[in-house]
Amino acid sequence: MKISEPSAGAPVAAAAPTLAEELHAPTVSRAYVCQCGRPVYLGNSRCLACGTPLGYVIERLGVMPLAPVPEAAPAAAEAPADVPADVPVDAPVDETWTVFGDADGPRYRRCANFTTAAGCNWMVPLLPEAGGTGDHATDLAEGFCLACSTTRTIPDLSVEGNDVLWRKLEVAKRRLVSQLLALGLPVHTRFSDPVHGMTFDFLSSVPGQHHVMTGHQNGVVTLNAEEAEDAVRERIRAEMREPYRTLVGHFRHEIGHFYWDILIQGSPWLEGFHQLFGDETIDYAGALKSHYENGPPPDWALRYVTSYASTHPWEDWAETWAHYLHMADTADTALSFGIDAANVELTNDLFEPADLWQPDHPEASKFLDFLNGWVRLTNVLNELSRSMGQPDFYPFVLPRAAVGKLQFIHQVVTQQREGPQETPPAPAEPPKADEAPDAQAPAASTDDAGAPPQEGALSPLAA
Ligand SMILES: [Zn+2]
Ligand SMILES: [Zn+2]
Ligand SMILES: [Zn+2]
Repeated sequence: MKISEPSAGAPVAAAAPTLAEELHAPTVSRAYVCQCGRPVYLGNSRCLACGTPLGYVIERLGVMPLAPVPEAAPAAAEAPADVPADVPVDAPVDETWTVFGDADGPRYRRCANFTTAAGCNWMVPLLPEAGGTGDHATDLAEGFCLACSTTRTIPDLSVEGNDVLWRKLEVAKRRLVSQLLALGLPVHTRFSDPVHGMTFDFLSSVPGQHHVMTGHQNGVVTLNAEEAEDAVRERIRAEMREPYRTLVGHFRHEIGHFYWDILIQGSPWLEGFHQLFGDETIDYAGALKSHYENGPPPDWALRYVTSYASTHPWEDWAETWAHYLHMADTADTALSFGIDAANVELTNDLFEPADLWQPDHPEASKFLDFLNGWVRLTNVLNELSRSMGQPDFYPFVLPRAAVGKLQFIHQVVTQQREGPQETPPAPAEPPKADEAPDAQAPAASTDDAGAPPQEGALSPLAA
């Protein structure tokens, strides 16, 4: 892997003794532990070793062992022996729980999607009068957790196989939302903010009718549910000559558009955005059309994280934002599990202060260390993938020009965590539809391109 042109002088690598020092403490731990001491994971709802029920608790940003509240409910249902730990068992959702070992602590219920195909292991904080924290209470659909409360439309479950697709979509979205919370980004749904609340529509194209376009408009993220089908997504990836196409990637990209509207537009950040990403007022539909007809500019790899980022400043932002979330989550996971890459022989050069947007920023050297730790880590991960004959774990070459953009995003995110500022409400934006216009789907807005919710489609948010 080669990052960029060689630079003069001694390798900078010697300055960074361990990956942990470079990457710093994780924002979010991905290494969760049961009360029995065994490791458990983001999707688990029961410990495989000791059978303790588990659930994701938003205030603790992690999967926690649970204990039933004795006076409030019968004992936990016994899980059938052949059910894997990450498949929710048929337990009553109205049972009340506390975090294991914190019997007097806040109380929770399981999300109503615990027993549906969504397989949700997130906990719903009870209201303070019921002994809970009431965290995010105004954002929740009754009975549902924060992650599920962002879903407005789910695939039509009367269609065979859609239950599996829906589950994959929700699993990816839960990973997204848990990271947004850990980063301190605002996560509010349509229930508390009817205009800009975070909303997901998972739609399926109906043969002979509209083709569902994955995209974002005014807080609503539309995902073509077909993308949850591995064979379909892989075919599109190959056709589009993309090195990387995943559900988590789609979510991170589209949520980038969402946060542009609420964090950048009309804010003091806009000036820096223009310096780094360019003028977003240039014709969006025209830029997208030109990209699909003519391809990216020949020198895109020197300026953008992906070829698609060269389409338009908004897409550059969303691609770079997604990249930042990839890096942050993967680095957090590596550190949570104590992975270190201190002994990695780098075959490429590291980034330097001159590559940053604001090299004099007080946190600049820390961020540079993070980036260089990332280069080191991905070198190892790619070698591991190659050892297994798999495609590269990290199939990107980060150009120096992207470093400043990543620092900008890092500062936007950090400021949110340290003290959210009120930003003026964003005016309506043109939709961003992230797909090639084709014969059935002329570059239409996500609004009219999306198939209407099919009859029989369940929605957790249905009144
Ligand atoms: Zn256990
Ligand atoms: Zn849920
Ligand atoms: Zn986009």
